[in-house]
Order: sequence, then structure tokens, then C-alpha cells
Amino acid sequence: MRRTKLIATLGPATEAPGVLDALVADGLDVARLNTSHAGPEALAAQLVAVRQAAARAGRHVAVMVDLSGAKIRLGEVAPGTVLEAGASFELRAVGGTGDASGATVSHSGLADDVSPGDRVLLDDGRIELVVTSAEPGCVGTRVETGGPLASRKGVNVPGVHLSVQGVTERDVTTLHWALDAGVDMVAQSFVRSADDIAGLRAHMGDRTVPVVAKIEKHEAVADLEAIVEAADAVMVARGDLGVEVSPERVPVIQREIVAACRAAGRPVIVATQMLESMTVARRPTRAEASDVANAIFDVVDAVMLSGETAVGADPAHVLRTMSRIVSAAEEVVVDSPWHRQRSAADDVAAAVSRAVCELAEHLDVAAIVTATQSGATARAVAAHRPRVPVLAATPDEAVARRLALVWGVRPAVMGSYETIDEMIAAAAAVARETGIAAAGELIAVTGGVAVHVAGSTDLIQVHRV
Ligand code: PGA
Ligand code: MN
Repeated sequence: MRRTKLIATLGPATEAPGVLDALVADGLDVARLNTSHAGPEALAAQLVAVRQAAARAGRHVAVMVDLSGAKIRLGEVAPGTVLEAGASFELRAVGGTGDASGATVSHSGLADDVSPGDRVLLDDGRIELVVTSAEPGCVGTRVETGGPLASRKGVNVPGVHLSVQGVTERDVTTLHWALDAGVDMVAQSFVRSADDIAGLRAHMGDRTVPVVAKIEKHEAVADLEAIVEAADAVMVARGDLGVEVSPERVPVIQREIVAACRAAGRPVIVATQMLESMTVARRPTRAEASDVANAIFDVVDAVMLSGETAVGADPAHVLRTMSRIVSAAEEVVVDSPWHRQRSAADDVAAAVSRAVCELAEHLDVAAIVTATQSGATARAVAAHRPRVPVLAATPDEAVARRLALVWGVRPAVMGSYETIDEMIAAAAAVARETGIAAAGELIAVTGGVAVHVAGSTDLIQVHRV
């Protein structure tokens, strides 16, 4: 059983007949819906398609809606526009279609935020500008590195704190759609601080869903610990991160984020350009295969595909390739000391979760079975990266889907129970039904004496199925 979870971004390429079914059959755990490029109708269609494909395959697949946040973009630019090094280029608050002399930018307060000498990067850093003047409504720049420029390209200002809203109106609208539609989790782009996450949660009312904080701003790197604490999961969003900070900082920051998440028991996703060349190519570069494997060696919860599946030539082939790289890397990681590095266990639930993993090291158990209401027990156990599969038995379909993101967890829906004896019997039945444990094998069941109370994990029972 593969332990690391696979996330793929949906897009035009996954809408072709049979593609989504192939992705789900090949092991897709989380489908990411990108709200930058799709409106509510397209998102609703993608959501329904995922639910149907998952039902056909009998698998739990989570849907993550990625809120695009305050991404700054250029406005329209005339076709054929090319910026020449040394030329002047204006970033305007208002104006018509742009050309080689300048273009509008979606952040009207940019001139108040930058000063001469600041660097402005366009189109993923392909074009570099240096600010020469900042007048109200117009930032004057000199082109350092030129190139062709198209409409709506991204604008990044590394190292500068921009006066943009943490949660945009568009995010709130999309969030409300997502809550109404019953998505399983939302990702928040351009998080700068724990306050930004609280700001998003404030719009949820009592219909809360987990928040995945995307680390892609320099401010977020500075406030990492508080963000890891505040978020339900964290994504190393290397695309924008590599423009906000320099590319050589990305692997270092990735390591810091993964370490912080592992220590806190927070699910962590490594994302962007993992198999980039396979957007068109049939085989990954060796560097890409290595990149995916190294994330597995760090025992991250999930690895993510973006354009490779959303607009790629063969999304299912890319996912299968990623799955094979992951499985090969997992073979060597399950026995490595890195793997056995446990996260903190400073309360009852965490200590019991850790103890069940220790127990599984010494006894020949087929699985750890967690009876889990909210998913908290399963996450707590998985945080210690046990050697055997974690079967998360929950009465709640939505909880089962959320757990699709978590390392080593196989979610399953089980019947309800009222007593501990019933809980253990139900857990054992699920273990047999899913084929994770055969009759006569041992399982380690963990759950709470206070049945139905989330986060009350306080018992372990070794049970012969
Ligand atoms: P995006 O986020 O694909 O929404 O930009 C991921 C990243 O920046 O890496
Ligand atoms: Mn991004």
C-alpha cells in the first residue's frame, strides 16, 4: 500500500472522457480545483465529476478548492508585446490595453508600497523590472531582463510587504460556494500570517472545513511556526515561492516547512513543478524523479501535480509515473531512521497515538485501526509515521474524505457504535472488509473511552481478528 498521498489539479485536460476515472483508478487521493481559471459553474461540474468517479471506483477522494488569494496580475496587454532590456516600463493603476511602454496592474496601491530600487518580477520571474519612480497611480521601472509579455501575467514584488487584503472578495464568494457545495477542504493562497488564516475562517460561520495554508510569500516564511499552528495542513507552494524569494532558497525553505510540520504533526504537501516536463513529455527528467523521491524521503504527506494534469498531454500517465516514483522511494524509507523520527507527544491523545505506533514496531500487527469521529485520532497516529497501515474507521463520509490527504491513512466508513466493545468489533469488521487484516491476524485498535467525543483518544487494545 502506498503511504504518500497523490494530489492532482483538474483542468481542461482532465475533462476529456475517461481521464478522471483513470486518475481515480490510478490512485488519486485529492482533486484540486483551481479557482483562478474556473468560475462557479465549471467548478461545480468538476466537483460532481470527482464525486461520481470516486463512487464508481469505491474510493474516498477529497476535493480541495484552491482560493486564489491576492495574486497581483497585469491587465490586458497588446498581442506581440516585447519588453527590451534597458527600456522604461510603467505599471499603472488605471488605463487601457498595455504595450511596451506600460500596462495596468491589479493592485492599485502598488505605488504606495514600492520604492526606487525595488525589483518587480513579471510572468513567474521571466521578466525583471527595477523601480525607478513611484508616483500616485504609476510606478516607473527600467527593464532589467526583457522578453515577450502577454495579458494577465503574474506580478511579484520580492521582499516588499504589499498592502493587499489577506482575504479577497472573490475568495469569500468562492468560499461560500465551496461550503454550499460541500467541498472537503480549501487551500488559501498567499497566506502571510496566522491572522490571514483566522480571517478566512471568520467567513466560514459554523460550516468549517480544513484550511490548507499555501506558503508562497516571504512574510509566511517569517511567521512559519504560527501558520503551521493555525492551519489544518500546509502546502509548500514552490511556484510563487520561487519568485517571492530566490530559487536557491526554495529547497532550504521546503526543508524548514516540512520539518516544522512534521514536528507539529501537521499534514504537509509539496507542490509545483514536481514533474513539470511531463506536461508534454512521456518520461520525467531524472532531476524531477529525484525531487519527488526526496519529498518521500522527508516523509511528507502528499505530493501534488499542477499543470502536469490540468493542461498536460496525458494526465493519467503522469499520475501513474508519480505513483511509481513514490512507491519506489517508500520501499527504502519505511525502515529509515528519518522515518521513525516521531513528532511530539505532549498530551494524552498524542502520547497514546505514539504508543500505538511503538507497539506496532514490536508486535506483528496487520494494521493500526483508529476509530475516529473527527479524524483527529487518525491524524495523530499518522503523524508518528507508523510502519503498518493506519485504517481510519469513521461513521462520517466527509471525515473519511478529508483523511484522504493524510500520510499512511486508509479511510473507511463504518457503522455506528455505542460502547467500547462495539467500537472494537466494528473496527475489526472494517479491517476484514477492507482486506487490511485477515482472520487470525492482530490489529492494534485505538480510540477514546468517551465514544463520539473528538480528540479523546485514550485507549489501545490489541485485538485478534
Ligand atoms: P498556484 O499555487 O498554482 O495556485 O500558483 C502553487 C504555487 O504557487 O506553487
Ligand atoms: Mn501560487
